[in-house]
Amino acid sequence: MPRTFGEIAGVPVGSTFPDRTALSRAGVHRPPQHGISGSQAEGADSIVVSGGYEDDEDYGDVIVYTGAGGRDPVTGRQIANQELTNQNLALALSATDGLPVRVVRGRGGDSAHAPTTGYRYDGLFRVDDFWEETGRSGFKVVRYRLVKLSAEPVALGGPMPPLGVPGPAPRAAAQTQRIIRNTAVTQRVKVLHEHRCQVCDAVVQTATGPYAEGAHIRPLGRPHDGPDIESNVLCLCPTDHVRLDYGGIVLTDDLQVIDALTGAVVGPLRTVAGHAIDRDQIRYQRQMRTFEAE
Ligand SMILES: [Zn+2]
Repeated sequence: MPRTFGEIAGVPVGSTFPDRTALSRAGVHRPPQHGISGSQAEGADSIVVSGGYEDDEDYGDVIVYTGAGGRDPVTGRQIANQELTNQNLALALSATDGLPVRVVRGRGGDSAHAPTTGYRYDGLFRVDDFWEETGRSGFKVVRYRLVKLSAEPVALGGPMPPLGVPGPAPRAAAQTQRIIRNTAVTQRVKVLHEHRCQVCDAVVQTATGPYAEGAHIRPLGRPHDGPDIESNVLCLCPTDHVRLDYGGIVLTDDLQVIDALTGAVVGPLRTVAGHAIDRDQIRYQRQMRTFEAE
């Protein structure tokens, strides 16, 4: 059966299920055990947030979710590092491809947002970010920030079409675009650099003038809480902004740009007088965007 992204017809937000079998039969979350439903070729279509995982954080409309792998099956405790592969890669692909993810909450844990019994479908979320960090156990875990999509239905069931099949775009293909945050601070940094990318030196010309993006080195918002100050912002082209945010490039303390996948030096970060870069934020970015590999 093809994977369904978005809403499942006949399953409104708030629907409850007594157990994982019922959840699976309804098509809301098909795998009977895994927390993440997806493949690394297609992305993830649903997750189950089960209370009690030591590194998960549930703020209601924002969930910081921990990836799969490295857990003791009995205690649920982290006993080994996680990698950006398989189900974890699937959920990261949902971030880069803007796929909506059905979120199901299970009972248990100390979350105020968990149901008291069974499982509850809590609607569509977008995967806002993913990164690596050292969890409470001391092992590396992959973490995700999920943000609830608006209450109105954005997808009305039906599978995504197979690749390469001609025909009209299906109405179910609801995808989200990643949000580029503009603040007074990012605006000032872009002007300081005359909209020139600090990594590749390009200026993107458009009908409205030169275009650049202000990239926060340490992300704003929970759980990173990076500061919205000039020393935490770079002026980047869209391509290098994506590379910075999704584990393509990291920066060294002496402001060299490094290819995070190969370790090769890309070149020096271009700087201008009057725009200092905070090394603490550089270190934070480097740690969260360098993924563990065996
Ligand atoms: Zn660039």
